Amino acid sequence: MKTKPCTLGTRHKWTWIKNVSVGSLVHTSSGTHGQFTLKGLYRCQCGSSKHGPFNPNGSDLRSIGAAAC
Ligand SMILES: [Zn+2]
Repeated sequence: MKTKPCTLGTRHKWTWIKNVSVGSLVHTSSGTHGQFTLKGLYRCQCGSSKHGPFNPNGSDLRSIGAAAC
């Protein structure tokens, strides 16, 4: 996946915004399953955004579940 070049500099400066779950429905012979992956949403000051690695230190973690102990 290619992103547009940054309009503010030579490359995007990604800032973590929040954690999101990215997923899709997968149809198999045994039924339909949702496959969801936790990702981080990142944004550059130029307005571009992308999905990146999940941020375990994200403040949204409490709403996701008992991952931290
Ligand atoms: Zn940018």
